[in-house]
Amino acid sequence: MKSVADYIRTIPDFPHEGIMFRDVTTLFADPRGFRMAIDQMLHPYAGMRIDKVVGLEARGFIMGGAIAHQLSIGFVPIRKKGKLPGKTLSQDYKLEYGEATMEIHTDAIQPGEKVLVVDDLLATGGTAEAGIKLLEKLGAEIVSTSFIIDLPELGGRKRLEAMGMDVQALCA
Ligand code: IMP
Repeated sequence: MKSVADYIRTIPDFPHEGIMFRDVTTLFADPRGFRMAIDQMLHPYAGMRIDKVVGLEARGFIMGGAIAHQLSIGFVPIRKKGKLPGKTLSQDYKLEYGEATMEIHTDAIQPGEKVLVVDDLLATGGTAEAGIKLLEKLGAEIVSTSFIIDLPELGGRKRLEAMGMDVQALCA
């Protein structure tokens, strides 16, 4: 039987020469692969209270929406700067080249709400850390962070675990 990893392809030299880009669109496009990924992402949280799923732009929205629907709970997007129409909180973070900013609506999470953070891939952890900082500022209780792919050699897991986060991933 195929595993989640079997549905993911690697495209060399995207978006820059020397980068091996993990492309999850082939996983999303396959009905068995997509369902398997969502079911496996949900598995560690069976019986746990989660109030909201938070997805990181952009591929975190795809799994995050499906997971929230399955749990019958709400979904909250963390977006790149300038995309959210209401009052926002912002968090700068470092990219490989330069800086970026993530934003969340200030009224999207109530203090004490239990949230699950979702994205497709954990590399250095900079993106997830920015999202976690925004959620902590709003008083969220982060139950866990969940990714399809963890690239442990890039240090993201260690970085998030050092912040006290639980980190779950389906493949490396
Ligand atoms: P980090 O901030 O270094 O952990 O990078 C993770 C972020 O970059 C996530 O939002 C990913 O969607 C994106 N990303 C980095 N590398 C890849 C890749 O190879 N495939 C898909 N997304 C990637």
